[in-house]
Amino acid sequence: MATSGPPIKETQAVVRLWADRFRRADDAELADGLIKIREAGIDPFEAVFASGVRRFEKSGEYVADGALGIVPWLRANCKLSGGAAAERVGIARQLEHLPETQKAFANGDLGYQHVAVMARTAEHVGTAAVRKAEASLLEAAETMDPGLFTGVAKNFEHRVDAAAALAEANRAHERRYLHVSEPMDGMVRLDGLLDAEGGAILRTALNAGMLPGKDDDRTPGQRRADALVDFFRRKAGGSASGAGPRPHLVIRASPDTLLGTPGAPAGELEVGGSVPAETVRRLACDAALTRITGRGELEAEITHAARSIPPSTRRAVEARDRTCVAGSCDRPPPWTDCHHLQHWTQGGPTKLPNLVLLCRRHHRMVHEGGWGLRRGEHRRWGLVPPMKVIAAHARSA
Ligand SMILES: [Zn+2]
Ligand SMILES: [Zn+2]
Repeated sequence: MATSGPPIKETQAVVRLWADRFRRADDAELADGLIKIREAGIDPFEAVFASGVRRFEKSGEYVADGALGIVPWLRANCKLSGGAAAERVGIARQLEHLPETQKAFANGDLGYQHVAVMARTAEHVGTAAVRKAEASLLEAAETMDPGLFTGVAKNFEHRVDAAAALAEANRAHERRYLHVSEPMDGMVRLDGLLDAEGGAILRTALNAGMLPGKDDDRTPGQRRADALVDFFRRKAGGSASGAGPRPHLVIRASPDTLLGTPGAPAGELEVGGSVPAETVRRLACDAALTRITGRGELEAEITHAARSIPPSTRRAVEARDRTCVAGSCDRPPPWTDCHHLQHWTQGGPTKLPNLVLLCRRHHRMVHEGGWGLRRGEHRRWGLVPPMKVIAAHARSA
């Protein structure tokens, strides 16, 4: 017998009740509430959703909407991505054969993500094998976070079927890719998938390079991004032969851009994309990894002027400064550029007294960020905020 449609009013009343309770809760009640809303609400609701999906898939009714399958139907109608829809369909299909898991899910004893792991495992080795070990897997799931539980499930898969586990790992390996987008709005998007081994190598390398420095206000995401770029910068520029690093970044810029003349065009990266004049000036400042070339007839002028810092000079600056000299920064030489206190395009010599070590973050602050440097004690330099620098310029003008 048909019912009178979904109980929308009742559901909305429950949502309002929770929202209202959360608004008035103190911290302790909020902690308890956050736990209970998943146990008693969100997870059991996902269990109900899964059983609905199962019946709907079996009915085949989704074809009435012109959908080619249950996953496309969910994408189109339930505001889910393809991945999220497929995961829910996987859960719906597998739970039918895993009654204990289904019960724990419906009771709120098992969270959605744990159930997703169980369902994936069942997909890989078959529900019969999972059912035999269901009790012990559930016990593990109830005491572990989803990440740890994934490890247990993978181990289980391996014990059950080493060949299947290997095939799965090989499938995962085949899915690896890295996409580096064309520059858009001054940003390049990275997006990719690595297998577990590649991921571990990358994470280890990044973790080693993303330690925060003193007074480091970068977010973990920003430090990770910097660690990645720094790693390749060193890789590309590092030459142990003593011949000095070779330029690997080629920028085309006009002399006006290099001079910082107002109205000058942006610099063009040879691999695509443009960078502001001040970035060209920063990159030219320590030309160890950069080659600046001119546009057309101006080529000779720039090529004559552009210079790199001789390795012996770089070594002398490192020996004198030891770390980045800005504020209390303690970043060591591998993370630094040689900054010309007076830019060479303005006649500043590439000589020890005119050079200081600045880490990439501080070098960027000084050029693109408009911060000033003020000589302090013991070869340290204080950072002067942009507004004060502008005011000082105005006074001296
Ligand atoms: Zn500089
Ligand atoms: Zn620094």
